[in-house]
Order: sequence, then structure tokens, then C-alpha cells
Amino acid sequence: MYVHDTIAAISTPPGNGGIGIVRISGEQAADIATAIFKPVCNGGLISHRFYFGVVTDPMDGDVIDESMAVLMRAPRSYTREDVFEIHCHGGMLVVDQVLSLCLKHGARLADPGEFTRRAFLNGRIDLVQAESVMDIISSKSEAALRLAQHQREGLLSRRIEEIHKDLLHALALVEAYIDFPEDDLGEADLSSIFDRVQSARIIIDNLLSGFDDGRVLREGISVLIIGKPNAGKSSLLNRLLNENRAIVTHIPGTTRDIIEETLNIGGLPVRLLDSAGIRHTDDLVEQEGIRRALDKIPQADLVLFVMDASHSFDQEDQLIFEGLKESRLIGVLNKSDLPPKLELPEYCQGMTCVPISAHTGEGVDLLRDHICRCFLHGSAIDSREFIAISRARHHDALVSAESILQRFLQGIQVKVELELLAVDLREALRAVGSVTGQSTPDDILDVIFSSFCIGK
Ligand code: GDP
Repeated sequence: MYVHDTIAAISTPPGNGGIGIVRISGEQAADIATAIFKPVCNGGLISHRFYFGVVTDPMDGDVIDESMAVLMRAPRSYTREDVFEIHCHGGMLVVDQVLSLCLKHGARLADPGEFTRRAFLNGRIDLVQAESVMDIISSKSEAALRLAQHQREGLLSRRIEEIHKDLLHALALVEAYIDFPEDDLGEADLSSIFDRVQSARIIIDNLLSGFDDGRVLREGISVLIIGKPNAGKSSLLNRLLNENRAIVTHIPGTTRDIIEETLNIGGLPVRLLDSAGIRHTDDLVEQEGIRRALDKIPQADLVLFVMDASHSFDQEDQLIFEGLKESRLIGVLNKSDLPPKLELPEYCQGMTCVPISAHTGEGVDLLRDHICRCFLHGSAIDSREFIAISRARHHDALVSAESILQRFLQGIQVKVELELLAVDLREALRAVGSVTGQSTPDDILDVIFSSFCIGK
């Protein structure tokens, strides 16, 4: 249910900063603005102009802060309501006091994501665009940001709209024959319904096939570096990060805990985990490090199994390899700058291997390519038109629509009653419409918007 009260929240992150922004939205926003903000130039606030002035408590005349402020009259605002923003000094106490003043004058503290929810409920953006706002804020790589921007611009919504249009057209034809049963469904109409539904299915299939790429771009992947001590795991981590993050020594067993770093490989957000070298040891601390490394294996999206190519493949390598049978794996044959000694046994032959030298950097770009290729299946992520679904919610709705449409097409072939076919089409329309929010129940909206931050 949509409530027309006035909400306020701090829109900048908690903590001290250069500026802090308090945002107010709703019918009372302009009145609150006039009550608590005095522009130095005097006179009223004109919409969409930025004013310098003071925030004052009208009860006692106390000046709370010098600040800039802007009033954005409905409907030309983020929420399509009157919005007032105060850009004050970014100390936690100052921003809190300005917010308290707004609450004292009739605003209510906004729920998480409530500004964006109002933008959605007032028809300014659809649900895909609302979700993309959150993705823009949390993007971990340029490619993920680009994907979120494209979704915000409506590229995905337009694709969903095409599906919706095709299905509506097919439904109109089916319903016409339900209403006028004396007319038989002719071949031409049948093929027209077929074509419409098929065209919708093609778009759905294309979107579904891009889901894995979209998801990894949005969520990122975790890559675990594993291998025996001294194989060069920490050197590889540093090489990938282009900095000396992990301690590199020739003494085996130096990395005893998991080191975690976030980086960007070919547009893919990657959580890189360097682990303790796996070997038999009596050192209790090292044993604990090894246990933690082994625990991480099932959770990793990809494992880089680092081997020292200047030594032969030994029992410890074999032990590690056996532990990785269930994992998506790349064999990293490190120390290619030294005379080669490593010969992989028969049972390792299926493993993709990349020779590198963490020391000189040779082969590391090729390794980066291989990592990307494991996850991005040729998506044109650089393209201006690049679009993919990236949320499980979108994926599940489209999978459900796809299976209903499959049933519909089979039904039409075996001449199932038109009423039943119409039920299928309506169900598919509901599933597709739930992606953009045309048919999304309130409790689902509650879940979606509660994951937003307060003030957004
Ligand atoms: P980790 O125990 O697997 O993390 O191995 P480190 O990264 O600490 O490296 C162990 C030793 O191997 C250090 O002395 C490194 O300088 C050396 N090393 C690592 N990578 C290479 C490489 O590509 N070539 C050569 N020649 N030495 C390397």
C-alpha cells in the first residue's frame, strides 16, 4: 500500500566526510524546507536551484549548520514527490542533528530503500531499474557497473517489454476465438499465435543463456590459490595484484592463514584467496592453516593449483590434485624461467594448464584470460548494447515463463481447449511481468527493498 507521508534519511554513508546529505521526500518536504533552511539571498526556494544558507531550529533560533540545499518539486525528482536535500558538513553529529530537525517538523524516518520504492510506485522506474540502482552502488568492477547502468537505462526492461507484447498479442488472438467460438481457429491464426510465442521464447532463451555471465559480473567469483609450500602461490598472488601483499620467502610454510584480496580480472570482480602450502607437517599452527585451506576448496568458484615446474611432480602434488577432483581447476605451472623438470602424470592430462613465471610475469596475462574464459562465455561486455540478467529473481521468473510457454506450444499442437491455453498465457505473462514489477506481490517488494540501504 502506498502511503503519502513525508520521509527523511541520511543519504551519505555513516562516518565523517566532506559533506553529509539529508534527504526528505513527500508532501511536507517543501514546508519543512521553508521552516528549517534560510538561504542567505533571502526569498523563497525556486525548484532545482542550489542555495547557500543556514539550517536553523525555528523553535530556539539555534543555527545547526551552514549548508547548501536544493528543493526539487514533483514530479521532477527521484521519487516524483517534492524532494528537499540538505548538503551539510559531513560530521556524524551535524548530520544527525539536521535529520532530527526534519523529524521534529513532521517527517518520518525512511525505511531502507524507501526513496527508490517510491520512485518505483510512482512509475518513474520499474523494478529492474530499481534493483539496478543497488547494483550501481555495490558494483565491484567496471563491467559490473556497465551492466548495472544498462539495466538502469532500461535496456533489460525493454527486452522484457518485447516478450510481454508478444505474449499479450498471442493472448488477444486466443481470447478472440474464445469470445467467438463459431469461428474456427484457422491455420493462419494458429501460426500467428505460434510465431508470437516462439519469438517471446527466443528472447527469454537468450536472456537465460546470459545469466551465468550476468551473475558472476554482479556477484564476482572466488578464486583459491592452492599448492605445496614454495610452489610460488604468494608470488602469484602478488603478481596478480601487482603489489607485494603476501610475504614471499624461500622458507616453506610462510603463509599460514588465508590471505584475501579483491581485484578485477578482465572486468570480472575476483576475490583471490592465498592459502597455506599443503604438506605433511608437525607444526600445529601450520596444520591449522592447511585445514583452513582445504575447507575453502568446496566454496571456491575456481581453484588455481600452483606447481613448481622446476621440480618433479611428487606425492604432495598428487595428494592436492586428488582433493581437487570436484573443483573447477586451472593448473598453474610456475617458475617457467627455470629449467623445466615437471612431467604431469597421465591422470592430470585433462587439466587445463598454463605455464607462468610469477617471478618475471611471463604467462600471467594468459592465466588472466583463462580465468575469465571459465566464467564469461563470450559476452560482449564491452558493447554498448551489452545486457544480461544478473539476479536469481529474474532468472527464476523467466525459467518459469519458459516452461509454461513450452506447455502452451505442446497444448496448441494437440488442440487443447482454448480456455486452458489462455490460462497458460496469462500465467506466463504474470511470470514475465514480475521481473519489471508489473505483477510483483507486495511481500516480494518488501524483501527486495529491504536489502537496500537507508537513504536510497
Ligand atoms: P609459496 O610458499 O607457494 O607461497 O611460495 P612463494 O611465493 O613464497 O615463493 C617461494 C620461493 O619461490 C621464493 O623464494 C620465490 O622468490 C620463488 N619463486 C616464486 N615464483 C617464482 C618463479 O616464477 N620463478 C623463480 N625462479 N622463483 C620463484
